[in-house]
Amino acid sequence: MPNLSKQPDSLLVEVVEDCSSVHSRHAAKPWKILVIDDDRDVHEATFYALKEETFFGRPIQLIHVYSASEARARMAEFRDVAVAIIDVVMETQTAGLDLIHDIRKAGLEEMRIVLRTGQPGLAPELSVIARYEIDDYRTKTELNRTRLITVVTSCLRIYNQYHAINSSRKGLEMIIKSARELFRPTNLEMFAWGILLQVAALVNSSPKGLVCVRRSESCVLESEVVCAAGRFLHFTGRRVSDVPEQEIVKILSSLPDLEEPVLSGNYLFLTISNRSHRKLAAVIELDVPVTETEMALVKLYCGNIKIAFDNISLVERLDELAFLDTTLQVPNLNAFYRSFEACLKHTKRPLSLGLIQIDRFDELIADHGLHLALECLRQMHAALSRLKGLEIVARVGDGTLAILGDPDQLSSEDIQAFLQQSYMIEGMEIAPCCRMLFRNLDKSETFPLEILREAVAALLHERAAGVGKVTHYDQKLRSDIERRNVLKGALKKAVEQHDGILVYMQPKIDLESKTCIGAEALVRWQYGDELIMPGEFIPISESIGATAALTEIVLQKSAEWLKETPREKGFKISINLSMYDLNLPGFARKLLRTIEKAGMPVETFEFEVTEGIAMKNQSTAISQLQMLREAGSTIALDDFGTGYSSLSQLQALPVDVLKIDRSFVGDLTADNARHSMAAIILSTTKALDLQCVAEGIETPEQEQALASLGCTIGQGYLYGKPCPFEVFSF
Ligand code: C2E
Ligand code: CA
Ligand code: CA
Repeated sequence: MPNLSKQPDSLLVEVVEDCSSVHSRHAAKPWKILVIDDDRDVHEATFYALKEETFFGRPIQLIHVYSASEARARMAEFRDVAVAIIDVVMETQTAGLDLIHDIRKAGLEEMRIVLRTGQPGLAPELSVIARYEIDDYRTKTELNRTRLITVVTSCLRIYNQYHAINSSRKGLEMIIKSARELFRPTNLEMFAWGILLQVAALVNSSPKGLVCVRRSESCVLESEVVCAAGRFLHFTGRRVSDVPEQEIVKILSSLPDLEEPVLSGNYLFLTISNRSHRKLAAVIELDVPVTETEMALVKLYCGNIKIAFDNISLVERLDELAFLDTTLQVPNLNAFYRSFEACLKHTKRPLSLGLIQIDRFDELIADHGLHLALECLRQMHAALSRLKGLEIVARVGDGTLAILGDPDQLSSEDIQAFLQQSYMIEGMEIAPCCRMLFRNLDKSETFPLEILREAVAALLHERAAGVGKVTHYDQKLRSDIERRNVLKGALKKAVEQHDGILVYMQPKIDLESKTCIGAEALVRWQYGDELIMPGEFIPISESIGATAALTEIVLQKSAEWLKETPREKGFKISINLSMYDLNLPGFARKLLRTIEKAGMPVETFEFEVTEGIAMKNQSTAISQLQMLREAGSTIALDDFGTGYSSLSQLQALPVDVLKIDRSFVGDLTADNARHSMAAIILSTTKALDLQCVAEGIETPEQEQALASLGCTIGQGYLYGKPCPFEVFSF
């Protein structure tokens, strides 16, 4: 005889049967029966009456409670009590009925209730019996062993049915809710988690198990574990074949494609396939046996979720497209940004960013066609991807690739070698001219977009820097860029207000007579205390579209100066034009009007353009040059020899003068003159009947060498540096 007055109050009536009724090796779960009575003898009698009994193959577990107030305090334990036998009179005459009211209010509606009373006269009203769903009302003497068993049996039968209906209703509600939830996730991992949690809840188990997905037609053993919980947790991201339980692996790999859940041992297995033959398989470790109703629900669940699985595959495909450069089939800017963000957050080791840009990608397209240019970029991507230590290689712009990885790797010789590499494309060897920007990342920098923006800006800033070079994004570059940004704003204002824009003049000398026959107007910018040189601010003016206005100022000031200090007949002022000016329709007309307004003849002006114009063959620019020339000015081709114009291109241009670039003058001597570039240019000018001006003459030796080659006009520090109007004394 157990000591009923001692804790624990709940004691298990021995398990009579090893009940494996529901496809699992779990012990049959006992029915919980609650006895609430202030009379200890009643508890004892109930215990002896029921202790040997099994109901529908399951033993019972009695919970003994000795007062209504104790019952209220322990209400939380009664969640899955099947039958409660409650005394009517305990602390008060109506303690039992009041307690039942509270039990139902607490939501314990499945619990069957039998009222037991010592005083037959205190039967509750019928309306109370109906309201609280009281199943039976008996006097204590009436409830002998046989009656008790009969009453409990019938209550358990009702409970069971009620519970089954209730759980399938709840299960169905859950399936509907799950399906709704599973349509929301946008990635497979979230979706898999949804399945693990929801199926575990459907079968009343805590979520323990794994979900794996077979990506293609390959073997299930190759499936990747997408999510895992419980003791399977550390298999996330690994292959199914890594799971040590052979039984699980065996069943998983032999599961048919149909959506039939399978119970084996303590596990529930299920599979879902979608239209593109993708297969998802899940194993859930069970806490309790699965009932028939639950199995039916899981089956229904799998059928419902199939559509969501189709959906997720579609979403994943869209997702894939969002992160893929579809022309090259390589990661795109979004992918780079995502990876960048993740690395900044999670990677502990040092990290560097590299941007690699094909110089003049548009020209590569123009010269060889889009198909070839893209193939070149694709091969470059493949070559970079073969380098070790890189997190990602992505296409982030037309001709720009971005890499992320180990600083040592990024600064290695491999990268240098990569920049020099050429590619065989359709039988042609293409050597793209690339430049690279390299930036070590500081872990405190957490805004990838900002870092990327700065890097792209730096690459643009360094455009002029040599191709095939790696530029390091360092403090100096950063302050250069900052300065450039400050200058941009200031220059715009200066040009608008004609404030601080100065014109310097450099004489052009007739080498025979040593007389000054003209001058080149060279612009300067007085910015505060600083005199900024055109090499720095002309590119800035081009980027803000201010060159045309700048040229206007230079022309206007030069014309006014010449008007005030008249020169000998034939004296010409050379004005530099940029490519951006000439591409503006109507610009030539504007220049001519400015000259006219100043009251000067057009013949006193020469316009200098760089050699690039000949190569680009831009019709707007060329027709504007023609217009200037027809109006009476002359045109000089500046920096001649540094570009690649051919004779035929030259012949087609409206040009009068070639200016030998000073890089061909610097090392001229009497000895090497005959075999110099200057000699070639001079013979070209003779052949085309053009004038020739040599720039950058600094020494008498250079002057003599040029004169011996037949050059008649020179310019350089030997005669005079560029100087303000007031100082110009030639
Ligand atoms: P550029 O047209 O080739 O001008 C000649 C440059 O060489 C000038 O530099 C001049 O100061 C420099 N130079 C002249 N003789 C010598 C010499 O003997 N030795 C050395 N080392 N240098 C010499 P600057 O004034 O700095 O101008 C640089 C460039 O800026 C010019 O090259 C021209 O392309 C551009 N530029 C100057 N003024 C203007 C302008 O008003 N408009 C436009 N669009 N560009 C301009
Ligand atoms: Ca010039
Ligand atoms: Ca020049």
